[in-house]
Amino acid sequence: MELLKTPAEARAFSRAAKARGERVALVPTMGYLHEGHFSLIRLARQGAAAVMVSLFVNPAQFGPGEDLGRYPRDFERDRVLCEREGVKALFAPDVLAVYPPGFSTSVEVAGPMSAGLCGASRPGHFRGVATVVTKLLCACEPDLAVFGQKDAQQAAVIRRLVRDLDLPVEIVVAPIVREADGLAMSSRNVYLSPAERAQAPALKAALDEASALFARGERRAKRLAEAARARLEMTPLARIDYVELVDAENLAPVEIVDQPSLLALAVFFGATRLIDNAHLTP
Ligand code: AMP
Repeated sequence: MELLKTPAEARAFSRAAKARGERVALVPTMGYLHEGHFSLIRLARQGAAAVMVSLFVNPAQFGPGEDLGRYPRDFERDRVLCEREGVKALFAPDVLAVYPPGFSTSVEVAGPMSAGLCGASRPGHFRGVATVVTKLLCACEPDLAVFGQKDAQQAAVIRRLVRDLDLPVEIVVAPIVREADGLAMSSRNVYLSPAERAQAPALKAALDEASALFARGERRAKRLAEAARARLEMTPLARIDYVELVDAENLAPVEIVDQPSLLALAVFFGATRLIDNAHLTP
């Protein structure tokens, strides 16, 4: 496995792989890898011989007072795990290689897609995401890039920007990988105290509650969201950020679920903000 530190090295690796006739896949991550990330890597390997993983804790997507400084990191462990998963190149640039002095450009997917849901509580977050993903795609020039449904809004924003900018890359979105008790895997789960961790499966339980109501024929978004909310409100350590039903593609709020929709939620446990979502498809 090659270790790449600059966009130029990433591009050289990608072009050399393509010159050998290999397809190139990119899996963007912020590291502290877990089974969710590995599922993306395995999907990437199915579609490409040359799998690149990027590892970059992107300052531009953290707001003031968020967890940039204490975001969990373990480069050596991530490096070994990538190697074990058959990754061909680990692109782990320093902040200055991505944002050199004078850096002034940003990419923004305008409108509710970036402003709603997580964008409402994290202003500027999706500008940071869109900017860094555009840079990673430009540097690595992958044939395909794999993202997780865990971050459904991020995946929607990236699909939109790839379409809008005519970027020649196929976007693949992988299903959510969960712990045995239903908690969606996340690098941030390490922040949870034992008591918070014990109650965190409430997110999945809330999604299940609403999905069961949906399966029984309920189509009113308000009622479905209420069912999820009620389950979360039974959870003493949970503080709801949002529970919303939106169109699965453009993320506009829906009132009646008569097309593929997404039930998305964000919940605080102490200072830790967890997100999860489920598709509701009539
Ligand atoms: P992160 O390192 O948290 O920025 O995540 C990197 C990629 O892994 C993103 O595309 C995430 O959506 C994806 N991912 C994170 N957690 C999971 C999970 N539990 N299941 C599937 N994909 C995930």
